[in-house]
Amino acid sequence: MTDHPRIPLAAVLGHPIAHSRSPALHGYWLKRYGIPGHYIPIDIAPVDLPRLIRTLPALGFVGCNVTIPHKEAILQIADIVTDRAALIGAANTLIFRKDGKIHADNTDGSGFIANLRQNAPDWKPASGPAVVLGAGGAARAVVAALIEVGVPEIRLANRTRPRADALRSDFGAKVHVHEWVQAGNLMDDAATVINTTSLGMTGKADFRIPLDRINPHAVCNDLVYTPLKTQFLIEAEARGCTVVDGLGMLLHQAAPGFERWFGLRPEVDEATRKAVLFA
Ligand code: NAP
Repeated sequence: MTDHPRIPLAAVLGHPIAHSRSPALHGYWLKRYGIPGHYIPIDIAPVDLPRLIRTLPALGFVGCNVTIPHKEAILQIADIVTDRAALIGAANTLIFRKDGKIHADNTDGSGFIANLRQNAPDWKPASGPAVVLGAGGAARAVVAALIEVGVPEIRLANRTRPRADALRSDFGAKVHVHEWVQAGNLMDDAATVINTTSLGMTGKADFRIPLDRINPHAVCNDLVYTPLKTQFLIEAEARGCTVVDGLGMLLHQAAPGFERWFGLRPEVDEATRKAVLFA
């Protein structure tokens, strides 16, 4: 009997999952680099997640992404959790190791920074305070990453104050919590302004935070990428700011997983953006 090499499989697990752009992205990279692998979406309810995770390696899966609502729960299932995933309290990238262990990491923060570095190359994170709007799961990855790259002060405002207070106690004294209604007043000397809320996303509430006090030298980034040019970015750009959309974060957070599963670091470039936008 011939021992055929197994075709590597990967997946994104969520509930629901039909909206995910990850299959289009990984599918594009697999085709571009001629790698004989597959990446599929799997809709799995939370109650069934632990059993599925233990079954996937036996079926030929080398790893997977996890998305809403599994990003926190997966930490209880994984055997090895990286320090940054533990600090953030969520993982998005799993590697099924040859020794049977499940390794969980969070690449949202590195994807967020890589997007800013690529699309705002003059951005100097240490040059002034950052304003972070929102305190959900994505904000935790953003705050951890901003601290890591040397932002001196993070001004955090969230509609639900206790969620912002929790970030302050988890991430320390660089995080200063402000009232949500004061968000517009935090902007004057900020070098970086990040929207991590879902405000402005297609189908969600409008982004209505006043930007009249924004520093025209600020680099502004919206994590929302549907639409690509959000109201926040349109207004910030009109006031002279450098603006970066959220699609690049999605692309960059995916690259480390692809490399671990399929053995090649994929390029994040204009062709990749187009492949995901027009898939
Ligand atoms: P989440 O944990 O549910 O957090 C949602 C955040 O939005 C919270 O801060 C929430 O405030 C705020 N919010 C929602 N509705 C609001 C409203 N009407 N007024 C004021 N604040 C409101 O979600 P998440 O995972 O952090 O994701 C947040 C956004 O980032 C989503 O749009 C997601 O698509 C995007 N995202 C993008 C990327 C990327 O790669 N570009 C990666 C991750 C996430 P409360 O705490 O008060 O509810």
